Amino acid sequence: MKKIIVAIDGPSGSGKSTVAKRLAGRLGYMYIDTGAMYRAVALQAKRDNIDINDSASLIRLCESVRLEFVPDNGGLRTILNGEDVSEAIRTPEMSMAASDISARKEVRQALLSLQRRMGENGGVVLEGRDVGTVIFPNAEAKFFLDASLEERGKRRYKELAAKGMDVTLEQTIEDVRKRDINDSSREIAPLKMADDAVLVDSTNIGVEEVVEKMIEVVQDKIGR
Ligand code: C5P
Repeated sequence: MKKIIVAIDGPSGSGKSTVAKRLAGRLGYMYIDTGAMYRAVALQAKRDNIDINDSASLIRLCESVRLEFVPDNGGLRTILNGEDVSEAIRTPEMSMAASDISARKEVRQALLSLQRRMGENGGVVLEGRDVGTVIFPNAEAKFFLDASLEERGKRRYKELAAKGMDVTLEQTIEDVRKRDINDSSREIAPLKMADDAVLVDSTNIGVEEVVEKMIEVVQDKIGR
């Protein structure tokens, strides 16, 4: 059976992670979370007190950082220089820091080659912002997963509140809005839908329905 590359892009809170993990599980594919890579680099930059406008330091950081992803319960644990940072990278502060550092070309270049190496043999579901436009423009199946700002903010709020974080719905919606603007307006690899992507709006439909829609498209591509 042909093993293809499945790209899922979309804004924060659109449900990419949940859907990408399920889809990868159903297909027996590897799940790759490109956002976790930006988050981990942002965390290391913070720990090293690196000014993200300092190009030489950013290059050194990207060359020295060791990233590993360990499958765990259908998801992935993120290992940064040998330390499990899966929880540490998921705070609102690190979301914004990842968005800021991801606009830097030094960081995008370094992560782009890692992402291409990880996915080049196919049999992968990658989620991010530029998977279908930049990382794998030739991916056989591309999706752009979207939802209304309010719905995405609500989902993010529920996730953070469930982890016991001290957040408000209003502030979370505002953070998501800011990240939308940041991610869509940057010069390099901005968030945008690839011309050949299938748009899926998850505002009013559940995870299962989204996954079923995607499975249909993927099965069509692999000729089942
Ligand atoms: O998907 P997630 O919210 O974990 O991504 C964190 C940040 O990393 C995003 O806001 C975005 O700025 C950046 N990112 C990116 N390109 C990707 C994946 C994530 O710029 N392919």
